[in-house]
Amino acid sequence: MNNCESYKGLLVGLLDGELTPEETVRINEHLARCAACRSEYEQLRETTGKLASMSFKEPEDAVLDQVWRSPYSRFARNASLVMIIAGYASLIAYGVYEVLTSGKEELPAKIAMAAIVLGFVILLCQLIRERIKTYKTDPYKEIER
Ligand SMILES: [Zn+2]
Repeated sequence: MNNCESYKGLLVGLLDGELTPEETVRINEHLARCAACRSEYEQLRETTGKLASMSFKEPEDAVLDQVWRSPYSRFARNASLVMIIAGYASLIAYGVYEVLTSGKEELPAKIAMAAIVLGFVILLCQLIRERIKTYKTDPYKEIER
């Protein structure tokens, strides 16, 4: 299939957000089927995406972005996350302790507590996996989503 050439203009339009809804559907359908255009689109996006974020943004936005991406605020965000998690964990630990020490006939409460703990642990694992993933990716990609 060599109608790819006719999609080149659409690729650029898609990046600039200038396509009609019909055109957007058309190019997306083609991108779904055509690996060549997909990699071309990725390449275009990498070059123009960085340029766009440098030239089209309001100065204040750029400054805010820089602050947000600086190592310090990254640290602050992680630190606050850790504090929230630690707080949550101790709250749950306290609850577990209360339930476990308050007598044997409170099985429903124990089951509820077990469910909460399990859910929390799963959530925590997810969160850590997300963190690791965002650390591995280029920080510039973070803002494009
Ligand atoms: Zn194609």
